[in-house]
Amino acid sequence: MTASLRVDLSGRTALVTGGSRGLGLQMALAFAHAGADVAVSSRKLYACEAVAADIRALGRRSLAVAAHVGDWAQLDALVERVHGEWGRIDILVNNAGMSPVQPSSAATEEALFDKVLAVNFKGPFRLAAQVAQRMVQGDGGSIINISSLGAISPVPGIIPYACSKAALNAMTIGMAKEFAPKVRVNTISPGMFATDIAQHWSDPQGLLQGIPMGRFGSPHEIVGAALYLASDASSYTTGANIAVGGGIDSPR
Ligand code: NAD
Repeated sequence: MTASLRVDLSGRTALVTGGSRGLGLQMALAFAHAGADVAVSSRKLYACEAVAADIRALGRRSLAVAAHVGDWAQLDALVERVHGEWGRIDILVNNAGMSPVQPSSAATEEALFDKVLAVNFKGPFRLAAQVAQRMVQGDGGSIINISSLGAISPVPGIIPYACSKAALNAMTIGMAKEFAPKVRVNTISPGMFATDIAQHWSDPQGLLQGIPMGRFGSPHEIVGAALYLASDASSYTTGANIAVGGGIDSPR
């Protein structure tokens, strides 16, 4: 199911990383339903192509571009590709991310630590910077960083992940100031959503007890916040962090 608000994104172009599945897929489809052309990126081209075909079936333009978000050169090529085809990016969603569970802080391996920081923070930093610079030179735009409520309430097992997302939160506030007034930069902080990531949770019943609303989010439930931040409905909102977590501790 894809949720939707009465939001008009006609004539806008969007780039969604990690748009092949999970929350990114829902946001990409919702933007297309609202009238936007949508570029979909993740590591596997065939997975992006499948989503792009669905978007084209809605009557929108779509691009499928493979890129590893931890690699700045691939991100630069991604931006060049979308700009080369469409001449503009109005909406960027820094969504791709990874959240491996680690046995303990002491047992965390350096390579995995570096990868988590690269995918969740280093890459989104580069992509936001490159896209924002072009937005400033053009008609402006909206950048949405997908963080996590884990950054607000870190728990053992995901501390490097929580730190990478806390860095993303700080990046949002800094870039909101750097690129205002033409570019708005905001964060969405999901709680626990039943995407592929959930398959790695060792104690789902225990996790449910920590959610006041008593259930995990369905992937389509991220869409309302994304459409709000992508559209002119949020024209005076920048540097914000919107929690979508069923009542889990929120940014304050
Ligand atoms: P998912 O695993 O279902 O999808 C992740 C997407 O990112 C996929 O398209 C995948 O191909 C892509 N991706 C992963 N690593 C990549 C890389 N190195 N380069 C390019 N693409 C890559 O995950 P999801 O649950 O949809 O999560 C989306 C975002 O939401 C992530 O940033 C995640 O940290 C965040 N988040 C999710 C939850 C949750 O409970 N699902 C909670 C908090 C935050």
